[in-house]
Amino acid sequence: MSDHHEHPVALSKDGQSILFPSLPYDMHARAEAFIADEHIQTYVNRATLGRDNGRKAFTKQIFGDRHNDLRLLAGRIKQHTLDNLDYYLEQFIDNAEKSGAKVHFAADAKEANAICLDIARREKLTACVKSKSMVTEETHLVPELEAIGVEALETDLGEFILQIDNDAPSHIVTPMIHKDKTAVARAFVRELGAEYTEDPKELTTIARNYLRDKFRRADLGISGGNFLVAETGSVVICTNEGNGRFCTTAPRVHVAFVGIEKLVPTQMHLSVLLKLLAKHATAQPLTVYTHIMTGPKRAAEHDGPEQMHFILVDNGRTKILADPEYREALRCIRCGACLNACPVYRKTTGHAYGAVYSGPIGAVITPLFKGLENYKDLPNASSLCGACYEACPVKINLPELLIKLRRDMLSGRVTKWHERIMYKIGAIGLKSRFIYRVGGFFQRKMLRMLSKGGYIRKAPGPFKGWTIERDLPAPAAKDFRSWWKRHKS
Ligand code: SF4
Repeated sequence: MSDHHEHPVALSKDGQSILFPSLPYDMHARAEAFIADEHIQTYVNRATLGRDNGRKAFTKQIFGDRHNDLRLLAGRIKQHTLDNLDYYLEQFIDNAEKSGAKVHFAADAKEANAICLDIARREKLTACVKSKSMVTEETHLVPELEAIGVEALETDLGEFILQIDNDAPSHIVTPMIHKDKTAVARAFVRELGAEYTEDPKELTTIARNYLRDKFRRADLGISGGNFLVAETGSVVICTNEGNGRFCTTAPRVHVAFVGIEKLVPTQMHLSVLLKLLAKHATAQPLTVYTHIMTGPKRAAEHDGPEQMHFILVDNGRTKILADPEYREALRCIRCGACLNACPVYRKTTGHAYGAVYSGPIGAVITPLFKGLENYKDLPNASSLCGACYEACPVKINLPELLIKLRRDMLSGRVTKWHERIMYKIGAIGLKSRFIYRVGGFFQRKMLRMLSKGGYIRKAPGPFKGWTIERDLPAPAAKDFRSWWKRHKS
């Protein structure tokens, strides 16, 4: 990789930016392509199922019957902080500044990047190492740093591989879940001049050797933040690779990009959330490294940055905060458990969502951040099975939020006119016992006429989408009501 590696926007097969496609975004084409890709289906299914089963088994083993109480408590802590966010933000800013950090506030992605670029220019910074941060994906920071001549290198192993392979993350926690070791081996040969190997240990060593020198030379370290602690003005970074510690201690300047919703009131509250985060994300007791950093290096200290900057990013969050119906979506601690549990995410995979955040939480917050009219497929990309709600450590009722978004699409006329008419007819039918029974009778007759061998393989007209990927079982000859009448005695 050259010192000024070009970092073009990662494009999918349809020629559009994977995370920032042209809007309004149509999810179908990409979802179909990923569903048809047997390799991707295998890796993503294996990895998400493994993580999901691991989470269930581990939380049961550690928490037993108290798991639900702990989730409730964690949800309440986050909800309380959001309900009083102005208070905790002020407290955080006061304490962070007392510890010597500088706090900036960015209303949107453009402003957040501009603050960081200003710091880089003012301090004449040229080499940046960056740990994993979803917020910097949101603001699309790396290409902007590179555009002003700052070499910006992702140091999380997954993000590093995606960067050199000109790809984009497809999972909140496991960004390269859609890639296998062959793709990594090829990228290392092509970009790093390494010998071809598919051995994971050897691949990790190649990356480690390459990155170590970059850490030594870097003058700018960029991180995200899993939590901000209001009572101490600290940022908390949870990683498994130790790159977060390197990025935030070796370079002269540390800039942390953090969403304003990441606040927790105290260290005591933090401990509850830390107990849940790693268990839900990767089925670990804790992440291997949990850093709590308060201010830059003190006079007597050897390690640490001379300057520490916080960029507190809004970028649509206050709009969600202002809406009491959707506020709970901001409780998210980005553990990725809802993605692993979601049957739709497993089939379509992260890139099909056309945004930085995918899976059930992405289907909720992306339309809220970027407009329902731009992402109208996302609230419908769910079977509402409730697996995401069961998985969520902070008890965000994701299925309910998805239903609310569908309601808003109808009332805001985002839904197509013929669908609106269908829903209206459906609502009339469901409210009247007579219409429901007569409608049910004719529907059953029609579906049975369309079926062959017990299945409907091709539904007609506007219903054809239901049978593209699977066959619909034919309804029984007699309805349940008649059966019940005959058998209840
Ligand atoms: S919504 Fe819940 S389960 Fe999904 S990433 Fe956020 S915290 Fe984790």
